[in-house]
Amino acid sequence: MSKNIELDDRGFITTCPSCGQRNRLPFSGRDARCGRCKTALPPPSEPIEVPSEAVFDALVKNAGLPVVVDFWAPWCGPCRMVAPELAKVAASNAGRFVVVKVNTDALPELGERFRIRSIPTMAIFEGGKEAARTAGAMPAAQIESFVNGAVKVS
Ligand SMILES: [Zn+2]
Repeated sequence: MSKNIELDDRGFITTCPSCGQRNRLPFSGRDARCGRCKTALPPPSEPIEVPSEAVFDALVKNAGLPVVVDFWAPWCGPCRMVAPELAKVAASNAGRFVVVKVNTDALPELGERFRIRSIPTMAIFEGGKEAARTAGAMPAAQIESFVNGAVKVS
């Protein structure tokens, strides 16, 4: 997974496509422009690793778009199969919803809180609340229909 986009408790940290400046894109995603050259910053277009429980909470509470969360772990074979599919989904749905990954080995408190019993599990959060979840590996098209069936995305 590339590190073009990262998360902290105040937003996405993204690289300006025009001048290369690192910028914080607020979770709301609105009116985000590069602080140096004023180019509009594109919405996240790749799965982003969640670094902490606090960042997860800040994201789902403040996100201007639905958030699709992949609960995974490094030792899980089906999770590795899902990773490239999720990358496709994130790339083709940039600006419609955000895709993030929660490593349940690194952040067991989140796996515990959401009672994740098997991985991969995908859950959708909208307006700070979980809207739907599904378990098991699936291809990109099936992930998209899961999301489209669960939340209204424009
Ligand atoms: Zn710039």
